Amino acid sequence: NTLLSIESSCDETAVSIIKVKKNAEGQIISLNILAHEVESQMESHAPFGGVVPEVAARDHLAKIYEIANKALQVSRLKKSDLSAIAVTMGPGLIGALMVGVLFARGLAMALNIPLISVNHVDAHLAPALLLKQFSPKDDLRAWHDVDTITYPALALTVSGGHCHLSLLNSPTDRTILGKSLDDACGEAFDKVAKLLGMSYPGGPLIEELAKQAEKSGNINEFTFPNKPANKENRYNFSYSGIKTSVMETIRKETGIKKGKITGKDLSKEKKQGIAYAFQNAALSQLLNRVENALQDYPEIKSVLVAGGVAQNKKFRALFSKLNKPTYFAPPSLCSDNATMIALQAALSENAEGFIQHPFAKYH
Ligand code: ATP
Ligand code: MG
Ligand code: FE
Repeated sequence: NTLLSIESSCDETAVSIIKVKKNAEGQIISLNILAHEVESQMESHAPFGGVVPEVAARDHLAKIYEIANKALQVSRLKKSDLSAIAVTMGPGLIGALMVGVLFARGLAMALNIPLISVNHVDAHLAPALLLKQFSPKDDLRAWHDVDTITYPALALTVSGGHCHLSLLNSPTDRTILGKSLDDACGEAFDKVAKLLGMSYPGGPLIEELAKQAEKSGNINEFTFPNKPANKENRYNFSYSGIKTSVMETIRKETGIKKGKITGKDLSKEKKQGIAYAFQNAALSQLLNRVENALQDYPEIKSVLVAGGVAQNKKFRALFSKLNKPTYFAPPSLCSDNATMIALQAALSENAEGFIQHPFAKYH
């Protein structure tokens, strides 16, 4: 099966092509990534400090045709070699989604092949489930031996819009244990970066500032409250409190009582200290919920970690504390891309061939 996939839910326009082989039981026995094209709209949104939905939709519309053509070129395939199209159906920005969905639907219709709809948050986990190694320099490699993860597994997906903790009995049998009650973790990184006067996306910038704080030993000046889990609420996340507390700290430090905070009155050292303390609080909350689940479900055999925030090196290092085999999504497949959409489609199809899911499901 050769699958072309499209992702356009937020601010990346992406098209991938993968080849999947399955055995008679429907298990994936080999995967080849034939094309992996991702075009970020970061520059279009940076001046606004966040993603502007209307700008995103227009950007996708301007680029999607060329990116799809480029993917076909890179794969050295013809359109007639494709056996199915997969597309992100949601969740995401509706205008942005529509561009990808309608393009995918048109392509599937013209080629008379099935269209597979994929849930974007589920798809973030697919690279952790399937791919052990994948780097941008080496992104066309074939990958075998896909069935190494032992179940039940605990999965943590931490992205710009979601925090999901879930229990998996197989790659597709998943129960959600906890979610964010307010802001998502990546969103909090972005908002705190904005308060410190930095551009979007804030995650990598905060990580860098925190590293500098560590280097200069500037790590004790600030601490931010971490929302502790309680008995009824052991797996849910909350990030709006930390964000507000960062804001109050900056107001106190700068004496700015009202109006917008831009971070420009803070010294470099203060910014580093705040970034370090914020990152610490944000990441330790994630690990805490994982520890709670491992305590409550001793049968869990492995841990999976994925989503944009999983690129954070400090975060990845925290998991070495747990006494469980941990599988991370490869860094180049953590933030939005279309390869994860294709992988999720490959996981969810049945053994006979690709299937078409109902459209309305994810809205
Ligand atoms: P969703 O998938 O929930 O719809 P999204 O697609 O915008 O949201 P992703 O692309 O998975 O999210 O991830 C982007 C988020 O990851 C941003 O919030 C970004 O700040 C965060 N992020 C990226 N790199 C890092 C890092 N090194 N440390 C912390 N956060 C990071
Ligand atoms: Mg993005
Ligand atoms: Fe995403």
